[in-house]
Amino acid sequence: TQSYPSQIWHNGRIKPWADATVHVMAHGLHYGSSVFEGIRSYPTPNGQAIFRLDDHLRRLYQSAKVYDMVIPYDQATLASACREVIRANGLERAYLRPIAYRGLGGFGLSAETPVEVAVAAWHMGPYLGPGVLEAGIDACVSSWQRFAPNTIPAGAKAGGNYLSGQLVAREARRLGFGEGIALASTGLLSEGAGENLFLVFDGTLHTPPVSAALLNGITRDTIIRLARANGIGVVERDLPREYLYLCDELFMCGTAAEITPIRSVDGRPVGDGKPGKLTRQIQDLFFGIFTGRTPVPEDWLDYV
Ligand code: PMP
Repeated sequence: TQSYPSQIWHNGRIKPWADATVHVMAHGLHYGSSVFEGIRSYPTPNGQAIFRLDDHLRRLYQSAKVYDMVIPYDQATLASACREVIRANGLERAYLRPIAYRGLGGFGLSAETPVEVAVAAWHMGPYLGPGVLEAGIDACVSSWQRFAPNTIPAGAKAGGNYLSGQLVAREARRLGFGEGIALASTGLLSEGAGENLFLVFDGTLHTPPVSAALLNGITRDTIIRLARANGIGVVERDLPREYLYLCDELFMCGTAAEITPIRSVDGRPVGDGKPGKLTRQIQDLFFGIFTGRTPVPEDWLDYV
């Protein structure tokens, strides 16, 4: 069972969790018309910091733009809301969930309803389960494909996209796997249900390109930059399914999943079946951001 935080930011102010409600006839509930973000904050030696808050909020406004949704608050207001909701709940570390959705105001698909906004914050451990950052997970390739680029835009992080993610994730869990990996409509590797993918060949990172119907993850971008700054090669390239079985190392990444090693795919061990050396190094670089060991641009850490 989930325990809920006590306070939430909703339409301009902090209110008790129980009061942050949506009408059953809200457009977003019926048609998936919401855009959202997942953001983490971490304790650091200089206090709690929200990771790449500006980049996440920029993506929120970009997702809204794709769907002609006008968010009735500016970015600075939502940034303050993120900080405020962490403080209001007394969290030492948090997963933040800003969401903008079409509310009540018409039932047609193209209805111009009011856009409402909420920001929630709660404590979230490793997304794919306790101990997975150390042990890794067993993944499978999903029988469900990602949506094609001319159907639903994968680059917009919209509520409706996650019908696809739910099919992939639920199928994987039902079959006893930790997470599912989807192929794009081209048949090439895309991403996990809610995570981007990195494969390692001969000490170089390989990751599918945005043309493979994936979300251009901020963790993915972070890894690409950290790797390059540390002399590790990175290539964005088309990758066929069997490369999952042939690579030396494999991991998933995302705000929620952080950097989760994958130890097997479809029952075949990845490398020697244990999280690999480069995967460990990327984890160290990533978590080093919050201990101060890994230098990063100043605007990547937004202190609460
Ligand atoms: N792909 C999908 C489908 C996701 O939902 C997420 C999580 N937001 C990611 C990738 C990773 O993105 P990020 O690193 O920005 O959290």
